[in-house]
Amino acid sequence: MPASAHGIAFDEIRVQQPQLDEVAAAYRDLRERWETARDTNARLEVFNTWDALRRRLSSWAALTRLRFDQDTTDSERKRQREFLDEISPKLLALESDMQRRLLSSPHRGELEGTLGRHLLTLWQDDVAAFDPVIEADLTLESKLESRYTELIAGARLEIEGAQVNMAGLEPYLQHRDRDVRHRAHACRDAFFGAHAAELDTIYDDLVRIRHRMARTLGYENFIGLAYKRLHRTDFTSLDVERYRDEVVRHVVPLAQEIVERRRGALGIDELRFWDESMASPEGNPVPRGDDDWVVARGRSALGLVHPEIGEFYEMMVAKGLVDLHNREGKAGGGYCTGFADYGLPYIFANFNGTHGDVHVLVHEMGHAFQDWKSRMLPAYDYLTPTYESAEIHSMSIEYLASPHMELFFEGDAELYRRQQLEDAMLFLPYGVAVDHFQHLVYAAPERRPEERHAMWLQMEKRYLPWRRYGDLQRFAAGSVWQAKSHIYQAPFYYIDYTLALCCALQFWARSRRDYASAVADYVSLCARGGEAAFADLVRSANLRSPFEEDVLAQVVGAARDALTIS
Ligand SMILES: [Zn+2]
Repeated sequence: MPASAHGIAFDEIRVQQPQLDEVAAAYRDLRERWETARDTNARLEVFNTWDALRRRLSSWAALTRLRFDQDTTDSERKRQREFLDEISPKLLALESDMQRRLLSSPHRGELEGTLGRHLLTLWQDDVAAFDPVIEADLTLESKLESRYTELIAGARLEIEGAQVNMAGLEPYLQHRDRDVRHRAHACRDAFFGAHAAELDTIYDDLVRIRHRMARTLGYENFIGLAYKRLHRTDFTSLDVERYRDEVVRHVVPLAQEIVERRRGALGIDELRFWDESMASPEGNPVPRGDDDWVVARGRSALGLVHPEIGEFYEMMVAKGLVDLHNREGKAGGGYCTGFADYGLPYIFANFNGTHGDVHVLVHEMGHAFQDWKSRMLPAYDYLTPTYESAEIHSMSIEYLASPHMELFFEGDAELYRRQQLEDAMLFLPYGVAVDHFQHLVYAAPERRPEERHAMWLQMEKRYLPWRRYGDLQRFAAGSVWQAKSHIYQAPFYYIDYTLALCCALQFWARSRRDYASAVADYVSLCARGGEAAFADLVRSANLRSPFEEDVLAQVVGAARDALTIS
């Protein structure tokens, strides 16, 4: 990493498109040097050279994906992205071969001693998730994922005389006028109806290809492979299953009460899908200024959480490391990516004038702050924690920042905080439904698309029993999950949000008693990045694992108390 990393602007970042033969030559050189190295220092030197190469290649991949997402209609960016999809499995093959060699080397103990046991555990998962024979399938998988991005980003929706994309529909989806809301949801339902065949085919192909890769690698089905890909080194699908049952036991009843409260507050007989997100008849709180105003207020709000976070935020904005405005052709969603060889994160989002803008800004800044704090860790593999740990950084700061929401919402800040907590309780059942659904899908990959829609409806019955789609025909038939990009593009990445939320709510409860100590533990946790597995990281931040008995019950109890009092 260049010493001058602090302060480099986005447009000064230079990444070179790799040539496969050059990378292959670099790997040959690394292997040779490893075999002939005379002592520990020489071998660590080889490791460091390799690590720098990986940081460089990952920066290029991140920038290529980002540039495509910034304008999915640009043919040159699309070509670059396609090149990335083509070359990625080949780069992975080189990386995996190096990992295998080091894992089976008589000197692996030196790496373990210097860099930690966790690194080797991560590599074991990596090599268990890859073999060169699945290269072609990996390429097919990436192409289908890109096709999903394009399809959703290409949406042109007519609403109230305006033409909007998916992100631009959001203000109408949560409009205070119930009829407008209904029309917006009908518009979304119609889009997914019109593209039903292609959405079904993309997913069907993805499931088939993922299952085939799993079988080729010796797994019973894709579930085992997915857990390896996600580096779930310290919990299993049985732990996850027990956790989902806990959600049914402790959260679903409270969520049902919240839905009932919202119905009463809205003064309607039956709550429909288009009413679920409405916390108050006056409408959801909205930021009191435009995009730039929200960004400026963000500096003050995060500075109040911790001065270091405020300064970091200022650097991100000043150096152009954020792209927050919604534009035509821009991919949907919000995420944090990063350029590891510069030690710099980047935030991508689509503001739309709702309270979601504050949410996404604060959430992604949490990821970015972790990325920044842990950028000097000695192994590339430690820079990004496993997702259930990574989402603790983003979700916790949402709660640590909540006392400062007056800066965005003025007199509605209390309403925002209540909604935030209620939404958390509604999210937990939804999140585990998305997870359970995918376990069903990949356990029976031969099922037809209609059967998958029926599986989703089963999930709604179990986890979201209040849900009523009214006349939204496509969604009523069990297809609402097709709007969730993770199901297509990041399989099994979803339970992670619910596990992290269970940790974030512990930070929230602690911060109400002792704000400074909760923030201090949060900052220390960010600095650890991904140098350890979930349970270890959680423990070190003085939190308890959601897999431990009664942890979820306690968290929900605290939320229930707060919701009853306020
Ligand atoms: Zn996140």
